[in-house]
Amino acid sequence: MQCFHCGREVRETIHRQKSYRVDYYRLHTGQTEWDFFLNLKQDAGPIRYLKLTQPIDLFTCIACYARPEIRQRLDDDFLGRRPLLEVHPAGEHKTGPIAKS
Ligand SMILES: [Zn+2]
Repeated sequence: MQCFHCGREVRETIHRQKSYRVDYYRLHTGQTEWDFFLNLKQDAGPIRYLKLTQPIDLFTCIACYARPEIRQRLDDDFLGRRPLLEVHPAGEHKTGPIAKS
């Protein structure tokens, strides 16, 4: 198992009698695609959600997890704002960032 961000080998959690040491965090993610729930209410549109089509486990070592920018990327992935893996959800039209002048 390797850290997704820095590539270092991560160790299994070490259990001692009264404590344990965690070396990594596991993120259950993968390729997603947009799908819809049909909303049963007449006047409401369908509910869009990200469906996990190809699950992948990613590991983040504790050193990387302590970095705010990496924590942000994990959050973005989890919330479907920006996938951690460089794949874009099928059916989602990519809109480029607005150029700053
Ligand atoms: Zn790392």
